[in-house]
Amino acid sequence: MVERMLRFVSVEKGMPDKRDPTTRRGDFGEIYGEFARDKAAEQAARCSQCGIPFCQVHCPLQNNIPDWLKLTAEGRLEEAYEVSAATNNFPEICGRICPQDRLCEGNCVIEKGFESVSIGAVEKFITDTAFERGWVKPIVPRREFGQSVGIVGGGPAGLAAAEQLRRCGYQIHVYDRHDRIGGLMIYGIPNFKLEKPVVERRTRLLAQSGVVFHCNVEVGANVTLAKLRQRHDAILIASGVYRARHILAPGAGLKGIHAALDYLIAANRVGLGDHVVAFAGGALDAKGKQVAVIGGGDTAMDCVRTAVRQGAKSVRCLYRRDRANMPGSQREVHHAEEEGVEFVWLSTPEAFLGDDHVRAVRARRIHLGVADAAGRQIPTTIEGSSFTIDADMVIKALGFDPEDLPVLFGAPDLAVTRWGTLKIDQRSMMTNLDGVFAAGDIVRGASLVVWAVRDGRDVADRIRTYLQAKADTRPLAAD
Ligand SMILES: Cc1cc2nc3c(=O)[nH]c(=O)nc-3n(C[C@H](O)[C@H](O)[C@H](O)COP(=O)(O)OP(=O)(O)OC[C@H]3O[C@@H](n4cnc5c(N)ncnc54)[C@H](O)[C@@H]3O)c2cc1C
Ligand code: SF4
Repeated sequence: MVERMLRFVSVEKGMPDKRDPTTRRGDFGEIYGEFARDKAAEQAARCSQCGIPFCQVHCPLQNNIPDWLKLTAEGRLEEAYEVSAATNNFPEICGRICPQDRLCEGNCVIEKGFESVSIGAVEKFITDTAFERGWVKPIVPRREFGQSVGIVGGGPAGLAAAEQLRRCGYQIHVYDRHDRIGGLMIYGIPNFKLEKPVVERRTRLLAQSGVVFHCNVEVGANVTLAKLRQRHDAILIASGVYRARHILAPGAGLKGIHAALDYLIAANRVGLGDHVVAFAGGALDAKGKQVAVIGGGDTAMDCVRTAVRQGAKSVRCLYRRDRANMPGSQREVHHAEEEGVEFVWLSTPEAFLGDDHVRAVRARRIHLGVADAAGRQIPTTIEGSSFTIDADMVIKALGFDPEDLPVLFGAPDLAVTRWGTLKIDQRSMMTNLDGVFAAGDIVRGASLVVWAVRDGRDVADRIRTYLQAKADTRPLAAD
């Protein structure tokens, strides 16, 4: 076969067509289109097939990237799909929303001087094509087992574990307090990054594979953890982190100041066709407003870009560090800037002004001082540097902490770390309660979808080992 690879010397990096900012400001559709088949093959052929694929090393799933790039370049797409699906339950989702600049693509060997291979875009193309062609099929386990697993949380960690365990033939029940399955992939991450039908076709496939979803069931409120333990042979807690961090500043209780997730959940629900009272009444709608978003992570970027699409009069993002030191993906900052968001770097809110409703934010300038033990420069406020910006809607996007699960689940013995995340044995991934496992953000703290998938796959392996041991120790039935 003619060698098709190593084309990075003659072919420039390309991405699927990106919609121009003016058009995309007007709707919530994804901003990138799909590669044409020949373009995907051409881009995949830029891979140098290097001896040590650092892209694979730095992918949390250790995806076999060079192999599926080569298969794509050779037009062997069905095989590329098989290889890609072997290590990732949701390649088309990771291809869309992984911060590739920090993971696979950021470590591509040809990045130095030639720009990386468009790994994420090719990964998305392969599995989107597989769905179109009908290559993605529901699971039919080779053997059914009577043992069942109850999974608390239908986010990426819970769903990846559900798929892996169902494949082994266990009976899987997923409990979620929301009315839709998908976790933050449905109610956190906006449509313009990840269109909801992409998530819904995955949950449909799992349902067709025999996974049973119990929506609107809040563990703690509707059923206790103890009850679930009686019902199932093993439990996985994959409930994510949802307690929003607050700002302690005068005026923080004024009307018009909202938590990021309240705002994003409302926007996502409206996009899904729900009637949301707080949106219809105007409180959670940015239309015509001067919006200030506080924070510099991915959540903040999603809020500013949602506000732009809702028709805000102006959108500013206040962040206490500078661009180089922000936690959010640089790619997302770039998209936000293209869409007209103004960044006020090195600033922190000092007070929220207004009588009953917020009308402005008084902020102070920040100086980044010496680095702390973790190597991050410590921000200190500059005396006398106060300034005011008009804002009649303020969104706090300062990160999330775990809820108090021992209290919420009515399980006071459930051990947590000093950060409130669940404590697990690193080898067995089990909590201190026998047969109760945990994975995803509730163990790691707020992280990424790709890490949740990794944790979901790992914990499924541990649960399988546990269930096998449990089955083996059952007394033999008398003849
Ligand atoms: C706004 C935003 C944008 C993000 N953007 C990106 C991005 O671009 N790329 C990326 O990789 N990551 C992104 N992330 C992070 C990513 O979404 C999370 O790391 C990932 O979803 C964690 O997966 P999980 O399965 O652990 O938890 P979740 O996705 O949080 O799922 C947990 C599920 O548990 C359910 N649950 C919680 N408590 C209970 C209970 N008591 N009873 C029943 N069900 C319960 C919840 O309803 C939820 O469905 C973003 C996060 C946010 C908030
Ligand atoms: S899963 Fe994420 S990090 Fe891994 S190859 Fe895909 S886009 Fe890159």
